[in-house]
Amino acid sequence: MAVYSVVAGVNHRVAAFGYRGGSLFEPRDFSMAGALVKHPKGDLLIDTGFGRSIDQQFRTLPFSVRLITFYSLWRPAADQLKDAGYNPQSLHAILLTHSHWDHVSGLPDFPGVPVWVTPQEHEFIRQSGDMDFCRLFTDINYVEYGFEGGAYLGFPASHDVYGDGSIVIVPAFGHTPGSVITFVTLRNGTRYAFVGDVVWQLEGITEREERPWITRRRGDTDAKANRENLLRLDALKERLPDLIIVPAHDMRAFAKMPKLSEAIGENRQ
Ligand SMILES: [Zn+2]
Ligand SMILES: [Zn+2]
Repeated sequence: MAVYSVVAGVNHRVAAFGYRGGSLFEPRDFSMAGALVKHPKGDLLIDTGFGRSIDQQFRTLPFSVRLITFYSLWRPAADQLKDAGYNPQSLHAILLTHSHWDHVSGLPDFPGVPVWVTPQEHEFIRQSGDMDFCRLFTDINYVEYGFEGGAYLGFPASHDVYGDGSIVIVPAFGHTPGSVITFVTLRNGTRYAFVGDVVWQLEGITEREERPWITRRRGDTDAKANRENLLRLDALKERLPDLIIVPAHDMRAFAKMPKLSEAIGENRQ
């Protein structure tokens, strides 16, 4: 097993946008990223980050969002996989933390690859909000999964993807109706928690400072439920100090995993 960061681009923000108490004058580039999880039973991509069509897609966002969003596309996930000698079509599935625009932009770049979602998130996609690009896509093969497993690391239920404890998804509803957190545990004991947008920056957990009010109100379906998830992660971090928490938009978290571009030789062998 292995985990690789696939940062497709950034949104140019400031710390104050990411968490309460953050500085208005401290630039923070928010990662727009996916993570490739290699597993002998099938590889997963957790979120896609920006895809090849982000420029066209971006024009469909509400004006209020476009006004405050300045982004740079680096290289879409599908192209990074190809650069690394990896056939994007050989992915077992794409696992969404949730369906907001910046997490699903690359879905059309992976034709035929199943997209795993909770039933709640699938329903949210059907309602097709204005912060979601899924309404623009046709022919996406959504596959629903449930939480048949018991409590896991402080979360009330779980879905053990391959039944070996290496990739375990837990419900973290709140930011969107069907948001999830995915725990990935490597054989050497390194454990990641891909927390999506429960928080945007690590300070959300280390300082228990959630998003500023205006972005909570605009960005979270149920901010109170989301705060419960934040507090669960804070408690978990006390219990497991080595846990690598990966908010989808924190570059510092993605810097803690190997880059896909550095794995080119390995994949070509
Ligand atoms: Zn989001
Ligand atoms: Zn996001």
